[in-house]
Amino acid sequence: MDTAVFEQHESEIRGYCRNYPTVFASASNARQVDEDGTSYIDFFAGAGVLNFGHNNPRMKEALIDFISNDGVAHSLDTYTTTKRDFVQKFQDVILAPRGMDHRMQFMGPTGSNAVEAAMKLARRATGRREIVAFSHGFHGMTLGSLAATANHAFRQWAGVPLDNIVRLPFETAPGGDTAIAEYREALLDTSSGLTAPAAFLLEPIQAEGGVNVASAAWLRSVQDLAREVGALVIFDDIQAGIGRTGSFFSFDGMGLDPDIITLAKGLGGFGTPIAMNLNKPEVDRHWSPGAHTGTFRGQGMSFVAGTVALDYFTDDAFGKQVTAKGQVMRDRLEQIAAAHPERGWEVRGKGMMQALDTLEGAFAKKVQDECFARGLLIGPCGQDGRVVKLIPPLTIPEDDLAAGLDILAEAIDAAAA
Ligand code: PMP
Repeated sequence: MDTAVFEQHESEIRGYCRNYPTVFASASNARQVDEDGTSYIDFFAGAGVLNFGHNNPRMKEALIDFISNDGVAHSLDTYTTTKRDFVQKFQDVILAPRGMDHRMQFMGPTGSNAVEAAMKLARRATGRREIVAFSHGFHGMTLGSLAATANHAFRQWAGVPLDNIVRLPFETAPGGDTAIAEYREALLDTSSGLTAPAAFLLEPIQAEGGVNVASAAWLRSVQDLAREVGALVIFDDIQAGIGRTGSFFSFDGMGLDPDIITLAKGLGGFGTPIAMNLNKPEVDRHWSPGAHTGTFRGQGMSFVAGTVALDYFTDDAFGKQVTAKGQVMRDRLEQIAAAHPERGWEVRGKGMMQALDTLEGAFAKKVQDECFARGLLIGPCGQDGRVVKLIPPLTIPEDDLAAGLDILAEAIDAAAA
């Protein structure tokens, strides 16, 4: 295989490379095959996009049917049967059973678009400027969403001040709500000069930031403070949502009630891009037609595949499978960490987003390379890329999951040797 020309070409068009030095040619469920015929197990899944696997057969069939019947591929603001089907089914399968009356708004093809829109709407609805965002949070690369993103490695590229953000620590330890309590005191102290924020924006489970799982109690303390000071709660469920943790939303079952929820990534099912915000009606009414537009907001193929994806959530069988597979991942990571006690590694995660914090970026990179050499794709995340994050397709067959975890254990031993 001659990758030289291709690599040069890649480096010219991308500012971002995960260092998988091969050329992939086909993919099915949790496997990708390169053009030399080498098969790789995929524990990266397009950064959490391919929750239902590569080339999901049910979606493929629906998409072929859609194209064969001359479906409306791009619709923008016109109403189409595919958009109607998606909206109706989302209402029936996701919102109604939870008693949610949030309004659906299509915000563009990417997660960053959804976050931008959420921030704009929160500012508009409250007439306030500041948004509270949290350490290790990741919300996107466009200027508004980048301002909310914590990682300096990304922020340094802005070229302009990224302001109107208050940064608080994301506290995951039990009882850890000191920063929230202190911020509350400061807000209530009229001599502090602080003004109340428009919103608190956070991932209930931080993905890119190192797989940090917030407790329900801490999330509730954030929500309580938001309510007290008239600010909105925005949950960014772009990576941890859409079934990743065993139910549709990562915060399901915690008794929380966010004003705005951002969704993207896996929502289109097939890797077909779509971003959607769910806004409470009293917030949503602050949008007027044309207030937040964008060309790619009505992709027929995203609606078709996304509608099929919703079938996975019509009962709890799929969620149970995700929980069971997540436990297999968790147990294996705990075993790996226990085999190297001197390293002080930590296992974190929920459902099928599980991670091993190796505390060292160079080591995690070595693990990634050793995995690749053995036929497993993983993508490190977190501070300095030190966290080995596992986010396979939720549909991964059990034998591929087991084989991938075996490879990971071997790769870690090789990297640690
Ligand atoms: N929010 C979260 C939680 C994400 O994980 C990401 C992407 N990694 C984004 C927002 C931004 O999404 P996109 O890359 O589609 O703009």
